[in-house]
Amino acid sequence: MRQTTAFHLFLAFCLISPVACKPKPQAPVTVDSGYRQVMGTVIRILAVAEDRNRADQAIKAALNEISDIERRMSDYDPASMLSTVNQKAFETPIPVDDQLFQVLSAAMEYSRASDGAFDITIGPVVQLWRKARADGIAPNPEAIQTARRRVGYQNLILDADNKTVKFAKEGMALDLGGIAKGYAIDRAIEVLQDAGLAGGMVDIGGDLRCFGKPANHAAHWMIGLQDPASEKKILLKLKMDDRAVATSGDYRRFFIIDGQKHSHIVDPATADSAQELSSVTIIAPTAMGADALATAVSVLGKEKGIVLIETIEDVEAFLLNTNQTNGITKTTGAGQYIRN
Ligand code: AMP
Ligand code: MG
Repeated sequence: MRQTTAFHLFLAFCLISPVACKPKPQAPVTVDSGYRQVMGTVIRILAVAEDRNRADQAIKAALNEISDIERRMSDYDPASMLSTVNQKAFETPIPVDDQLFQVLSAAMEYSRASDGAFDITIGPVVQLWRKARADGIAPNPEAIQTARRRVGYQNLILDADNKTVKFAKEGMALDLGGIAKGYAIDRAIEVLQDAGLAGGMVDIGGDLRCFGKPANHAAHWMIGLQDPASEKKILLKLKMDDRAVATSGDYRRFFIIDGQKHSHIVDPATADSAQELSSVTIIAPTAMGADALATAVSVLGKEKGIVLIETIEDVEAFLLNTNQTNGITKTTGAGQYIRN
């Protein structure tokens, strides 16, 4: 009886609103944001949705979120929240917002996990090398040693109750270049998911994360891993459903002073470039994790890097040596992502 009543109600509703009863299953559309400038590199978002308008709105909101993060976490912008920390945190504890506090706390975890190979207090050394690069003159050894002594995540004091940051040593400076991109990608993905998209991908400078339905009705999200030796050659095709991938290395971002090649990644122990690996690709559930660990493994080198990644659940690595003849080294679970 109840069923009959329900059936009649259903019919009546059909007569009033035939469209609602015969929903045309719409194929999801993929909207491509194209490349835009952000965080000193480019961003591209793919949004998969039932309707174009929803996808457009979601892309707009995700781009706004990223600009917002950039405004707070850039160390190039003297007015950013991070710059305020760098200018004043030795004098007094500086209050920061939840997002920045979250990134700083996560960075501390990656420092501990990598035994200091990843260290956002690398700022003074990075600044020294940035200047050297601009001037074309290597920093003198004394300056390097002075900068190195200012580095040490143990001297970064985070107060979780008051959400403040304090430096225990004078001259300290934070640099989020090894982690902020990943964080921004994760936040943008969250915005796309909250907007009700069926799927999406956010790519900032080649680091990316994707979720849900793949673009253009493909069976999977597929990502090409570029050969460090040749921009046009794809070394591996990776199946990347609901995963993030980040690559660190000196193959595109390096500079030469006095005939010596320098990477933008610095070993906190020596205050000099990390040299051994030309490219490290990490696959992880979050872009922030992939980003920080890619930088960490670039510093640690092959042996220690593989050991670290093998201990972290759900995280895999592909390593390429500077000496190409050594080929690719990968963690035990990395093969599951390869689709050639
Ligand atoms: P990525 O491309 O993610 O490996 O990040 C490289 C950037 O991270 C550099 O340009 C620096 O801003 C910063 N950085 C360099 N060395 C380190 C390090 N040992 N730990 C954390 N961040 C670093
Ligand atoms: Mg990184």
